[in-house]
Amino acid sequence: MSTEGKGGNNKKPILKGYTLKELKDFFSSIDEKRFRGEQIFNWLYGHLIDSYDEMQNVPKVLRQKLTELTGVIDTLKLISIKESPQTGTKKYLFETLDGYKIESVLIPELKRTTLCISTQVGCPLDCKFCATGLMGFKRNLTAGEIFDQYKFVTKDLEEGAIKNIVYMGMGEPLLNYDETLKSLEIFSHDLTKGIKLKRITVSTVGIAPKIIELADSGLRVKLAFSLHSCFEDIRSKLIPINDKYSLRENLQAIRYYTKQTRTRITFEYVMISGINDREEDFKELVKLCKSMPCKINVIPFNSLEHINPTGFSAELQPSPYERIEAFVQALRDQNIVVTVRYTQGEDIAAACGQLAILEDEEEKPIKKK
Ligand code: SAH
Repeated sequence: MSTEGKGGNNKKPILKGYTLKELKDFFSSIDEKRFRGEQIFNWLYGHLIDSYDEMQNVPKVLRQKLTELTGVIDTLKLISIKESPQTGTKKYLFETLDGYKIESVLIPELKRTTLCISTQVGCPLDCKFCATGLMGFKRNLTAGEIFDQYKFVTKDLEEGAIKNIVYMGMGEPLLNYDETLKSLEIFSHDLTKGIKLKRITVSTVGIAPKIIELADSGLRVKLAFSLHSCFEDIRSKLIPINDKYSLRENLQAIRYYTKQTRTRITFEYVMISGINDREEDFKELVKLCKSMPCKINVIPFNSLEHINPTGFSAELQPSPYERIEAFVQALRDQNIVVTVRYTQGEDIAAACGQLAILEDEEEKPIKKK
């Protein structure tokens, strides 16, 4: 649970991010009725209030008590919005209470506007094709901070405009498992009037034991797995944590996930020239796809030039357009469901894998060899 202020006694709990049960427990702990938990849950997450004074069905004395006992309502401050003139994609820059910057990306599409949210400040995974990985890791976000990205973007749009949420911004959601799970519970609760789980996708690089935990959680959220190569050695080169949680172990966990949740997995596949777009890559991918309910999301590799990569990262080039087209067509010829995520927001460095805070140069990404 988050608190604000430094030093023991000054710490006031921040309610944003509390689940329904936690809110009820909180009201019990301050000698109030538990049903107040439901009311405030609805105000915080359903009505997106900015102040306790907006809570019309809560007596004034209780609103005052809450103001005294708890910390701020918003866990983030919106710093700037950048809009791509080409696609209408918007990048929202936020600051956390302790001064870190994070980003969310809104991808407008007719009837299915999608919000891409972050789960960590930076990312500890160091994937060689991803700008966020190259900027290093600061800390996990709280469920409140994950939710507030949605709150601010919703307030910037017409209410109800966001139809889908994807956990594909900065960070690895399954390395921030508890707060991610709480945020999913909050988004999908009836009192939130928010986003149903079937419209939420959690994308993971593959933390096998956590995939199993998520399968057993009872939350039937859609899962996307950043596959990128069917060969362990190549995948390890691109995604170092593959040495710890191998592709083999992850695929076992994913099979379990698809069975438990009765959903199909989405394999994300960033096309990198000469690395994963060869004939043998195609053959392995077909074999894998025939072995479980899945679809493939092919993503053209987005350039990292804006962060001046070095070492192996600097060698990575996007597959040529024609090769992507041929690859996709060949997969479809095998009756595999393929979508292609054409780049959105590259002009504002908001495309997949390009999120790294550069805005005011306060947080320069650490260059790695
Ligand atoms: N850590 C999670 C979620 C964040 S990344 C994960 O790895 O799945 C969201 C998606 O963007 C992932 O599929 C990731 O592989 C992809 N991605 C990262 N860098 C990219 C780049 N430079 N170009 C295209 N896609 C990229």
